[in-house]
Amino acid sequence: MPHASNIVVCDGPDSPHAFDIIPLKPRNGMLDARCPICLGHGEWNTEIDLVSFRCKRATCDRCLGAGWVETGNDPIGVPDIELSPEGKPQWVINYVPREDVTQKDASGGNLLVPDGS
Ligand SMILES: [Zn+2]
Repeated sequence: MPHASNIVVCDGPDSPHAFDIIPLKPRNGMLDARCPICLGHGEWNTEIDLVSFRCKRATCDRCLGAGWVETGNDPIGVPDIELSPEGKPQWVINYVPREDVTQKDASGGNLLVPDGS
């Protein structure tokens, strides 16, 4: 006997069932506001079965899954790789002014190009 299912496909965070059964993320440290895209959930359903609640999810590119974003002019930390004094690559956090980071850069994560070219 087939399992009952009622699968709904969500096109994005605006879909009616996009945030079903996804909890809001707790606010993380210095971040200021709920993400305007995922509304604080950090991810959304791309497909959900309204009977079993099995789902497929997408992570929000705007907040990188944190659910919260920085607003205003606070500097934002961007992960980057630099050479250490010993000549070995190491992870660092570069703080850049908010206005230097476009939404496209934020979704690119550590691939940020400093001059925005
Ligand atoms: Zn988000």
